[in-house]
Amino acid sequence: KEMGGHGFQFYFPEMNEYFLQSLVLENRLHTALERNELGVRYQPLLHLHRSRISGVEALICWRYPDGESISPERFIPLAEETGLIEPIGEWVLTRACRQNHHWQQQGLPPQRMAVNVSVRQFFHPGFFDMVCRVLENTGLAPKWLALELTESMLMQDVEQARKLLADLRQLGVKVVIDDFGTGYSSLSYLKRFPVDGLKIDQSFIEGIPRDHGDTALTAAIIAMGHALGLEVIAEGVERLEQYRFLKEKGCDRIQGYLFHPPLTAEECTGLLMEHRMESIVIA
Ligand code: C2E
Ligand code: MG
Ligand code: MG
Ligand code: MG
Repeated sequence: KEMGGHGFQFYFPEMNEYFLQSLVLENRLHTALERNELGVRYQPLLHLHRSRISGVEALICWRYPDGESISPERFIPLAEETGLIEPIGEWVLTRACRQNHHWQQQGLPPQRMAVNVSVRQFFHPGFFDMVCRVLENTGLAPKWLALELTESMLMQDVEQARKLLADLRQLGVKVVIDDFGTGYSSLSYLKRFPVDGLKIDQSFIEGIPRDHGDTALTAAIIAMGHALGLEVIAEGVERLEQYRFLKEKGCDRIQGYLFHPPLTAEECTGLLMEHRMESIVIA
């Protein structure tokens, strides 16, 4: 009121600042694709039983021309609100599938490419057809694609989610629950959702081996996942002790800075070539 006029202010100046920044980001996001500011990075996973690269996760990245980069945690929610997630999501999926098909054509050992899907994208009526179209256009066989979804997403509309998951798996696409342990985690739902694997959230991996709760939960998720016939992946693995713990508990694959950070397509191609024959040794 002190400021007069009919404008409004948030109570905390930081909130005002955040709101303004969101508006600016939202505006820039509209043209980010055309301006070539969006990119995809590829983070390889390590198979703990076979000591080989096994799978790659595609991660979107956004870099301004001045070099500043914006986290997907920040702009994906904006893309969801504005509906930009549909074109952006299709773009990422197309790029990731094309890259994977390209690696196969180069004769590299075939990898499963994981792509993140957000809630609005997943429940969009055209989602399933879009996935079919992208696979056809890029020539990638469905079994080399995995979609990463979160539990809280699936819980938004359980029946619709079950139907979509069944259709995707019928097609041959794999489905993995991402950030597992942070959402609902109702065991009965896990049984009811037709999925192929679980990715344990990095917040649990962080506390290994010091935090008793995190180690107990991680061990329990691995055992439970295996009992249900699911593959179990750990994300955010940064330290040797975490790797040793996960290997001992029988975790199937790991992803994290200890192995490799997200890489450019060129870097990842180099890595796949380098390791096409020999197995990988981690101390
Ligand atoms: P996420 O799917 O759980 O991806 C893993 C995140 O952890 C990535 O962050 C990755 O760079 C980061 N990470 C990998 N290894 C380590 C590690 O050892 N330590 C730590 N601390 N972090 C590690 P990023 O790229 O910032 O992505 C954040 C989230 O944004 C993703 O989490 C995912 O939910 C979302 N996202 C990323 N790309 C896409 C996309 O193409 N579409 C959609 N809908 N969401 C995306
Ligand atoms: Mg993911
Ligand atoms: Mg994850
Ligand atoms: Mg995560």
